[in-house]
Amino acid sequence: MLRLSLTARCNLACPYCLPDGQEPADLLSLPQRLQVVAAAVELGVRSLRLTGGEPLLHPELEALVKAVQPLRKRGLREVALTSNGTLLTATRARALRQAGLDRITLSLDGADGPSVARMAGLADANAGERALASVLAAIDHASEAGFDPAAGELKLNAVIQRGLNDDQLLPLAELTRERGLELRLIEYMDVGNRNGWRPEAVVPAAELLQRIGDRWPLQPLGRATGGTARRWRYGDGGGLLAMVASVSEPFCGDCNRLRVTADGIAYTCLFAHPGSGIDLKPWLAAAGTQTHLTQGLAALWQRRHDRYSEDRSQAQLERERPSHAEMAYLGG
Ligand code: SAM
Repeated sequence: MLRLSLTARCNLACPYCLPDGQEPADLLSLPQRLQVVAAAVELGVRSLRLTGGEPLLHPELEALVKAVQPLRKRGLREVALTSNGTLLTATRARALRQAGLDRITLSLDGADGPSVARMAGLADANAGERALASVLAAIDHASEAGFDPAAGELKLNAVIQRGLNDDQLLPLAELTRERGLELRLIEYMDVGNRNGWRPEAVVPAAELLQRIGDRWPLQPLGRATGGTARRWRYGDGGGLLAMVASVSEPFCGDCNRLRVTADGIAYTCLFAHPGSGIDLKPWLAAAGTQTHLTQGLAALWQRRHDRYSEDRSQAQLERERPSHAEMAYLGG
């Protein structure tokens, strides 16, 4: 899977992510992004996820979704978007569907104004209410535009942090059950350097599972190879629940994600050291360089050995935190 970040900027300022206020220099152009996707597809990538920062801030999002469609003939199977949803109007949801977008995952970390404000770095509960209302509207816009939650085309991500929004677990489960959306609970991860991550703030998947399972019995469905999430079905027919437990249950062994930042730096791990990415721009600059790009990406993939989540040792982290590239830059 290729996770392609379109921008490092975000219109929210979630303290656990802390996006940049401005773009890196040398953003890739649309034709350059298309070159990257084409090379990845040639190397076997079947799934493209557009992310950020907040990808809806990017004016060429719809154009890019449209531009990659011919790559389906060469093996691309799905084009997905991860967004906070606050800018997803009915018009944009329809335009994205018409352009060929298959799936949307929206992110929402609370079911009331104060929690949303706290988790999204907003000024007050009123701002949180407004953000919440816009995400709930985005869910409606996306389903009306044809993104069918029952077919897994519309899902909700939530990061749960102990002491900040762990009281939102059941309300978020309720909200997603009511709307037929899969809720994907993400353990709070030590990505980036700015969020002041502490192991105590992580609510492990096992605890999340127990709390939800005590309320609504769950049947395990397992984790697909190469997938990030373990999934469950609500026993009462209330839909699906997923957990991305990269802290308590790492899945480096079958990780198949290549990440390319908005300025064309390729990383093979979400927890990569900031300087360890490979700049694809020299291969994108000149005409006729597609072969070099494909070869460069293939070489990067073959020599990858990162397995940070598996190597992570609690004791080590408490003594000295390794430096990581920022989440908003890497694109989640
Ligand atoms: N702005 C978009 C959004 O909100 O979905 C896309 C980018 S965002 C970086 C992608 C996902 O990463 C979001 O669901 C966000 O909650 C999650 N995320 C960011 N920082 C995280 C962290 N430290 N731990 C776990 N998840 C995190």
